[in-house]
Amino acid sequence: MRTNILFLFFAFSVLIISNCSKSADNELIYADGSDGNWLLHGLNYSENRYSPLAQINEENIDQLGLDWQLDLGMKRGIEATPIIKDGVMYFTGPWSVVFAVDLRSHEIIWKYDPEVPKSFGEKGCCDVVNRGVALYNGQLYFGTFDGRLIALEAESGKLLWEVLTVDQSKPYTITGAPRVVNGKVLIGNGGAELGVRGYFTAYDAYTGDEIWRFYTVPGNPDEPFENEAMEKAAETWTGTWWEYGGGGTVWDAMAYDPELNLLYVGTGNGSPWNWKKRSPEGGDNLYLSSILALDPDTGELKWYYQTTPGDAWDFTATQHMILTELEIDDEPRKVIMQAPKNGFFYVLDRETGELISAEKFVYVNWADSIDLETGRPVERPHVRYVEANFQMAPDYNGGHNWQPMAYNPDLGYVFIPARETTSMYGQDSLWKFNKVGFGTGNGWNLATGTLYGKPTITDDKATIQGKLMAWDPVKQEAAWVVEQNNIWNGGLLTTASGLVFQGTADGKITAYRGSTGDLIWEADLQTGILSSPVTYLVDGVQYLTVITGWGGGYGMKNKHTNAVLPGTVYTFRIGGSADLPKVQPKYERALISPKWDLDLSKVSHGETTYWKYCGTCHVVAETGGGVAPDLGYSPMVGTPAFTSVVLDGALLINGMPNFGDRLNKDDAEAIQHYIINKVRTIQTAGK
Ligand code: CA
Repeated sequence: MRTNILFLFFAFSVLIISNCSKSADNELIYADGSDGNWLLHGLNYSENRYSPLAQINEENIDQLGLDWQLDLGMKRGIEATPIIKDGVMYFTGPWSVVFAVDLRSHEIIWKYDPEVPKSFGEKGCCDVVNRGVALYNGQLYFGTFDGRLIALEAESGKLLWEVLTVDQSKPYTITGAPRVVNGKVLIGNGGAELGVRGYFTAYDAYTGDEIWRFYTVPGNPDEPFENEAMEKAAETWTGTWWEYGGGGTVWDAMAYDPELNLLYVGTGNGSPWNWKKRSPEGGDNLYLSSILALDPDTGELKWYYQTTPGDAWDFTATQHMILTELEIDDEPRKVIMQAPKNGFFYVLDRETGELISAEKFVYVNWADSIDLETGRPVERPHVRYVEANFQMAPDYNGGHNWQPMAYNPDLGYVFIPARETTSMYGQDSLWKFNKVGFGTGNGWNLATGTLYGKPTITDDKATIQGKLMAWDPVKQEAAWVVEQNNIWNGGLLTTASGLVFQGTADGKITAYRGSTGDLIWEADLQTGILSSPVTYLVDGVQYLTVITGWGGGYGMKNKHTNAVLPGTVYTFRIGGSADLPKVQPKYERALISPKWDLDLSKVSHGETTYWKYCGTCHVVAETGGGVAPDLGYSPMVGTPAFTSVVLDGALLINGMPNFGDRLNKDDAEAIQHYIINKVRTIQTAGK
């Protein structure tokens, strides 16, 4: 009898959970924002960031004013898209800290700090950022920079479960937002600059149990392959790639089609970048730089499309993907659209993976076109930088990076936060993969450098320029382009009132007329913006929120405002009348001139050491610095404080690595000789 009661109780519980799951699944499937919430990372599973709200429109936008703000007390980059439900907003800040904010009282309800050890800061390529949380059935999910997936009770912030998703002895990091599909939490990771094998995993939303894991590149072929897809992929690799990890990390974009029950995942670059070192006899290196379509319930690969076969340039296809229907040659097609780093805008049939069209959306010099028969790029000579150094356009920053696009179906435009970029690529003849610890120097393992005495092919047409553009995905051409002063602006939002919103690196939140690209409104928030704005209703009133927080890979070395203020939530409404942040004075600083006995014989060792350890985040007498100081202006250089920062971890609390395990006093001194020599050379030239 007792067994029967227990069984009934069990069966009843299963029924309740499965009914809850069904309604929770449906809530996400129909999350188009019309109820005024913002329930999914890209607003809906199609990830189009098209809000049906239209209270804020062209007629009244001149009255759009600040309503309230909330200082988060943390510097470093904020890339999160907030999730909003019933008057509460959930988002992540730097170091994977989660905030729940009451949208009526404008106060923090709770804050959850997963206490990521600061020593993990150096494992990331691009700042200790996080792109946000997922909400499902009252539970909140997020990844941490040190590779954990955590579930919290949304109402209280109480910990429900926590799983480690990575081998923490390797340089994996999580910066992407999880997605929840059919009761499974999906999360990938990053690390392909430092030497890892990419994968993503599905966990049970209620228990945190692993359901399946899909590796994006094959492991050692002497060991059993995880699945058929890996066996097939291994035929496209040569050499001993698995010793370097191979890459293909899934660090950002996913989308889901509930009707086809297909999960779409974008994969990252090769690890190391250099194709000749990674796979010496060539090969496409599946599934690097690809869009994968999988069964979300089993993790089985249904189709793939590789945007950049044999990637050698950090041309990730982890960029935001959007699902929609387009009328192409008088036929309605279910499509998936992506503008990955490589500079081509792709339209694929999302049922089959068939390439429909692909055209350049920025200046591209590495390929003439994409062959529609084979789906492959028609590469130009020398672009693999073997016999000569080659100036690539676009470069590793991408014609488009992680900043989300938005698609407005009324206008038929995909809005792209695009950019023209260019860099010189060459063989790094000194490169050796270091399997111990974090690899070489600061941990980066690219095998790609420049200028080792080879001829150099330059390109006069390549430029560096930010661009906000409206792209017609049917015609495959730009409808309009707004040129921007800098290349690292925020993600996008579009609305049913035909507006496009974007935050910029120079601290503005802007609104454009989506049909023409005319700037129709802006407000100056004084600190650079990376994240995407969102819009929602509270008590029937439409609000616009954007979170400032300068940083990211580019923001470590550069800034385009006078100051970097702590991350702040800014919320606007029609008739909002709060004061905008006060204008920050331009901080004029002089280059350092420490008393220092310069020994020119130490400069060369200092320069090599600097580039190996410091140059990823710092510059010397160049930009004045971003989140990380320009060392040409740092008063610590030439004092004992410098040694204590570099060798004793005195600023580890800020995320500055402790290099005491890798560098000695002579190295730290040599770096100072290099910095001071560079500064003095500039000062002498200026006199
Ligand atoms: Ca990369």
